[in-house]
Amino acid sequence: SIYGDYIKSVIRTVPDWPQPGVNFRDITPLLQNSAAFRKLIDSFVHRYQEMDLDAIAAIDARGFIVGAPLAYELGCSFVPVRKKGKLPFRTISETYTLEYGEAEVELHSDAFKQGDRILIVDDLIATGGTMLAAAKLITRSGGQVVETATIVDLPDLGGSERIREAGYSVFAVCA
Ligand code: IMP
Repeated sequence: SIYGDYIKSVIRTVPDWPQPGVNFRDITPLLQNSAAFRKLIDSFVHRYQEMDLDAIAAIDARGFIVGAPLAYELGCSFVPVRKKGKLPFRTISETYTLEYGEAEVELHSDAFKQGDRILIVDDLIATGGTMLAAAKLITRSGGQVVETATIVDLPDLGGSERIREAGYSVFAVCA
């Protein structure tokens, strides 16, 4: 994307966090820099303003940081995809496997209308498990997943490839 290299330059890599051997991509320096944050949101607005979206489904928790201003700017609804046990109303959920154990994402059953055009956003795609679970959940709920979008894709982990193989489109600001 147009600002991809610049956005990448303001994301910090923290070695050995949260565990030895993991290089954690930390977006807080990007959020601290208002010009960079504006370019980030503008990158998504530029891509999605003509796509006639009905809703932005944002993944708990860093997806919310991107999803809320994007929904505001595009004039569409905001739908939180949350970790298990956070949503108060009737929910549907999707379980997926992690390196160690399982995780679950949830959606309110009345979050959008059948056939709604939905963009899913998160901060980062690693193995792709979280994004794919969210996409499956929205598909099962009757939404049309127009694309899945992220700030950072770590292509060496094969996540975005896995999501594409499942039939979903993937956009990354920093590929
Ligand atoms: P995946 O399910 O393996 O693709 O991991 C992606 C999910 O874990 C996203 O919701 C991210 O917020 C989080 N995540 C994994 N690694 C990182 C990282 O290095 N920086 C920020 N978030 C990460």
